[in-house]
Amino acid sequence: MKTAPEIARMHALLQTQKQASLAHGILSADERIGWLNRLIAMLADNKDEIADTITRDFGSRTRELTLLADVLGSINELKFARDNLAKWMQPEAHAGMFPDAQARVEYVPLGVVGMLSPWNFPVNLTFAPLAGIVAAGNRCIIKPSELTPATSALIARLIGAAFNESEIAVVLGGPDVAAEFSTLAFDHLLYTGSTSVGRHVMRAAAANLVPVTLELGGKSPVIVSQCASVEDAAARIMTIKTLNAGQICLAPDYVFIPEHSLERFITAATTAVGNMFPTLANNPGYTAIINERHHARLQSYLSDARERGARIVEINPANEDFTAQNVHRLPPTLVVQPPEDSRIMQEEIFGPLLPVLTYRHVGEAIDFVNKRDRPLALYYFGQDPAEEHQVLSNTISGGVTVNDCMTHAFSETMPFGGVGASGMGAYHGQAGFRTFSHARAIYRQGKAIEAEYALRPPYGEPMQQYLAAMITR
Ligand code: NAD
Repeated sequence: MKTAPEIARMHALLQTQKQASLAHGILSADERIGWLNRLIAMLADNKDEIADTITRDFGSRTRELTLLADVLGSINELKFARDNLAKWMQPEAHAGMFPDAQARVEYVPLGVVGMLSPWNFPVNLTFAPLAGIVAAGNRCIIKPSELTPATSALIARLIGAAFNESEIAVVLGGPDVAAEFSTLAFDHLLYTGSTSVGRHVMRAAAANLVPVTLELGGKSPVIVSQCASVEDAAARIMTIKTLNAGQICLAPDYVFIPEHSLERFITAATTAVGNMFPTLANNPGYTAIINERHHARLQSYLSDARERGARIVEINPANEDFTAQNVHRLPPTLVVQPPEDSRIMQEEIFGPLLPVLTYRHVGEAIDFVNKRDRPLALYYFGQDPAEEHQVLSNTISGGVTVNDCMTHAFSETMPFGGVGASGMGAYHGQAGFRTFSHARAIYRQGKAIEAEYALRPPYGEPMQQYLAAMITR
C-alpha cells in the first residue's frame, strides 16, 4: 500500500462527501433505511468470505465466533437502527417562552463522520457504529485496521461495490495514514482503539475542533464476592477471558478473589478451561494472538511478573508444546498476586492472561479499583444486594455486568461506551443515533408580542414586579 496516494485520496473524499451532503440536503428516513438494508445484505451475503478472511488474518479463529460477534452482532445493530430510526427522528416538542410560540428539537445529521476502527472484531467494530452513523443521516469515511489487512481490504471492496464514494468510503493504510486521517476536518471523528493512541487522535482533532467519540480500553476489574459461587464465577470469567483469546476491550483484565477462596478459584478456572479446550496448541477453536509483536508483549508481561515473584499458573490441559507453532496461540495463564508495579498490573492485557488478587474486605478491592483509571467495564459476582450496592455506588466504569462478564454490551437498547480514560461518548441503538446527530433547537415565535414589550428597554414597573416575583428561593 502506497501511503501518499491514499492520503491525497482521503482529502479528496472528504470534499466529495461534504459537497454531496450540502447538495443533497438531509437524507430522508427512507433513504437511510435503504443504506442500512444495503449494509445488512452485504454482511448476510458475504458472511462466509468474512469468516474465512478473519480466520486468515488471525491465523486461528473459529468461524462461529466471527459469525456470532462480527456478522450477527453487526446485523442486529443495523436492523435495530433500521426499524427504529423513523421514531428516533421525530422532533421533540418543547415549551415555548410565550404561550403561542412553538419550540422543538430536531435531530439532524452532523455531516461527514470519520471512523478509525480496530482489528479485534474488525467487522463488528466498523458496522455496529455505522448503524448509528447512517441512522442519523451522515456520510462516512472509514479507516479500518492495518493489523487485519485481508479483512480491511474485504471491507473496502464490499463497501465500494455497494456504495458510491460520496456516501460511504474506505481508505486503507497504517499508522501514518491513520495519523493524517485524524487531522481531517470531519464533522465528527469516531476512534476505537487504545487509550494511548486515543490521546493522539483527540489532540489532532482539536486543531479543527472536530468532536470525538473515543471507544478506548483499560483494565476492567472483576470482584468476586465472599458469597459468590467460586466455580460459577470462574467458569463465566474464563469463558470471556478465553473468547478471542482475551483480545476484547471488555475482557476481564484482573480478578479479586476472597483470600480463603484463592486455591478453589485456581482449580475451578483450570477445570473450566479444560472443559472448553481439551487441547489448545492446534485447536482451530482457540483464537491466536493477532501478531508476533502482541505475542511478545504478552510474554514479556509474564516474564516480568515471574521475575517480581508472582506465581504463574499456565492452563495447558493436554500439556502441549506452544513453542513450535506457525500461529501465535498463547495458553490461558493465571498470574497470582503480581505486585502493583508489574507491567501486567500497569498496562491493559488484551490477551488470555489473568492476574488474580486477593482481598479480606471488599472495601480493599474497591479502593484498588478507584486508585486506577476509570475502566470500560466492572464486573461483580455475588448474591448480596447490599454489597453489590456498595461496589456499584463507590466505583465508576463505562458499564457493569453483575454475575457475568461483557453481557451488558450485547443490548441494543443500552449505550455502550467508556468514561474517563476508557473513552467518551457512546453508541448502540438510540445512543448511537444521538451521538452522531446534532440536537438542533428550533423556535418559532408567536404573535402575542405585547408580552415582549416588557422585555424592551426602558425597563419600568412591570419588569421590576416580574423580577421581584420570579427571583425567589
Ligand atoms: P491501537 O490504538 O494500537 O491502534 C488502533 C489504530 O490506531 C491502528 O489501526 C492505527 O492505524 C491507528 N493509529 C496508530 N497511530 C495513530 C495515530 N498517531 N493517530 C491516529 N491513529 C493512529 O489499538 P489496537 O491495538 O488496534 O486495539 C487494541 C485497543 O483497542 C485496546 O486498548 C482495546 O481495549 C481497544 N478497544 C476498544 C474498544 C471499545 O469499543 N472501547 C473495542 C476494541 C478495542
